[in-house]
Amino acid sequence: MSSQQGRGLAIVVSGPSGSGKTTLVKRLMMRSPGSHFSLSATSRQLRGDEVDGVDYRYLSRMEFTGLRDGQGMLEWALVHGEFYGTPRSEVLPYLQEGRLVFLDIDVQGGLQVKAALGAEAFLLYVLPPDWRTLEARLRSRKTDAEASIRKRLANARWELEQLPSYDAVVVNADLDRAVEEAWALIEARHRNLPEWLADGGRAYLRDHFELELPS
Ligand code: 5GP
Repeated sequence: MSSQQGRGLAIVVSGPSGSGKTTLVKRLMMRSPGSHFSLSATSRQLRGDEVDGVDYRYLSRMEFTGLRDGQGMLEWALVHGEFYGTPRSEVLPYLQEGRLVFLDIDVQGGLQVKAALGAEAFLLYVLPPDWRTLEARLRSRKTDAEASIRKRLANARWELEQLPSYDAVVVNADLDRAVEEAWALIEARHRNLPEWLADGGRAYLRDHFELELPS
């Protein structure tokens, strides 16, 4: 999908931990060169083999609230007792360049992005196939302590209840299929008339209808 000359679009991908949304975002980004991943800031500790500046910007609570109170965040939320937020600088300049921006954030954040960006935001919800799969995926990570897993499961139920406020949903039972479905949804949302015309539509009208539109 060519987005360079078109509008930018912020694609917010949310769903309970264990829905596979992070992998889904990576696969979608491989399909759209020129898209940007919005690097979130968080006050939580590094986990496993995570790297500062790659997975998150890891900030102290003081640093985080300083950035937030200076209006540096497009959205922020407390998730599992820690601060998470999207710096404005990770989204707005890229939208202005007409790029796709992917945000892997929770539902609280997604709704704030929608309120801030309106039609420039598309909220995609990723559902795991069922509750048991979600629980198994969470436990197989082995990077979290039991108490933290329980917190995530409780939070997942709340996240599920928020599904109707999103624009679209994909069920992630089979990753390849979920990627195809998500891509089709994004394309349908993103493709507007000026892009269609520029991307062969004008020629189609000329060839099939002998209709020459003024440029
Ligand atoms: P984790 O700690 O497992 O990396 O992420 C926990 C949750 O926080 C996930 O649902 C993730 O999508 C969400 N999250 C990550 N970054 C942000 C952010 O910038 N803002 C909000 N609101 N949630 C985020």
